[in-house]
Amino acid sequence: MPYDEALERFEPVLGLETHVELGTESKMFCGCPTEFGAPPNTHVCPVCLALPGSLPVANAEAIESTIRIGLALNCTIAEWCRFARKNYFYPDMPKNYQISQYDEPLCTDGYLDVVVDGETVRIEIERVHLEEDTGKSTHVGGATGRIHGADYSIVDYNRAGIPLVEIVTKPIPGTDRLAPEVARAYVTELREVMRALGVSDVRMEEGSLRCDVNVSLMPRGASEWGTRSETKNVNSLRSVERAVRGEIERQAAILADGGRIVQETRHFHEDTGRTTSGRSKEEAQDYRYFPEPDLLPMAPDREWVASLKADLPELPSVRRGRLQAEWGVSDLDMAAMHNADAIDLVEATVAAGAPAADARKWWMGELARRANEAGKPLAELPITPAEVARVTELVSSGALNDKLARQVLEGVLAGEGSPDDVVAKRGLQVVNDEGELLAIIDKVLAENADAADKVRSGKVAAAGALVGGVMKASRGKADAARARELILEKLGVS
Ligand SMILES: [Zn+2]
Repeated sequence: MPYDEALERFEPVLGLETHVELGTESKMFCGCPTEFGAPPNTHVCPVCLALPGSLPVANAEAIESTIRIGLALNCTIAEWCRFARKNYFYPDMPKNYQISQYDEPLCTDGYLDVVVDGETVRIEIERVHLEEDTGKSTHVGGATGRIHGADYSIVDYNRAGIPLVEIVTKPIPGTDRLAPEVARAYVTELREVMRALGVSDVRMEEGSLRCDVNVSLMPRGASEWGTRSETKNVNSLRSVERAVRGEIERQAAILADGGRIVQETRHFHEDTGRTTSGRSKEEAQDYRYFPEPDLLPMAPDREWVASLKADLPELPSVRRGRLQAEWGVSDLDMAAMHNADAIDLVEATVAAGAPAADARKWWMGELARRANEAGKPLAELPITPAEVARVTELVSSGALNDKLARQVLEGVLAGEGSPDDVVAKRGLQVVNDEGELLAIIDKVLAENADAADKVRSGKVAAAGALVGGVMKASRGKADAARARELILEKLGVS
């Protein structure tokens, strides 16, 4: 069903579960390294392979990182809690259970505010808990890359035992037609909080941040929430938005036909933006949780927690507020920079000496346009904030005008060197030699006698064509404002 029609008839309720792999040096319960990309099954030991007789030891830094995440998300930190065993069989889990947390999570009852369409939406956080990641299965053969229909499967335990933080929201009603944007804004903000805390590299494409998206629909005006589906491991911000939208459209079509939503996990397909059915959750799985007997309970010291809270870095929303005030830009402009991932770039350009307005103008104008053409994020353009700052300096000193500055940026992006190299190689410099400029003007006036006469007779608007002629004759290198002054002077109307 088309999205607009779906929203006329139904209200969505969201829920988001995000897994963040912590960037600790070693795994959660052993000393194996956590580095991404090593040859398969080289970062393993008796503990993370669960060989008989091996015992886990909790990683203190992972516990500290989890508490810092909880504090940044305004959570209450448990005074006493335990790890729990989650029992299930799956080949990528050597123990046949996962050490996780169940009814005693480290952090509870927090929130994260996000801004969508100028409105602040408070996303309530139910819990933040610590667990270990599983290994990674690869299913070979078959059309889908999934286990069904595969010829065989191989497993890599390098990831097994990497500390994983799970952040679960409470149900999020009331987002209405903005549901997809709210989901995306939440994951975006969460990712920035993790970055500011320095607890994870949060690379969605490498799986260090993964998101499960829950969506249910209820008829408009209903008081009871519908059955939800859970779309697993959505791995880009854009996909989070598309998965919510796709699920709203799919569920609305089923409900409008008198059908019923099945509680299940679903898989998101990048190519179509649709989800397909995975595992049914109609019968709740019994994980037989029980307190992990091989690990001590955790009882974070209150003074330590208070000092972690006092030492939290400036959080992204606070930083944006500060920069907005420093730069004197509107909410709308700030939101645009945030959405374009331009804030860090503008800040670095300002730090390199550019006025904020100029830094913003080039990153959000010419460079955003070029990034868009290249289909790349702004930060991946081959130009540094210092180079952009140098271009703004050349413009404000009068050595370049905007048109020439665009050519300089083009040259830098094309790998022709620094802005000064490009100016020298391409011979891009405003004509500041007044004699040279006057010679061009004389030529243009002689060639455009009609326009010159009009200006002389008082139709000053006609000067525009003459200025245009000077710019053309100088191949864009003239200072247009100065040329206009000189033309009017010469024609006796200044
Ligand atoms: Zn290990």
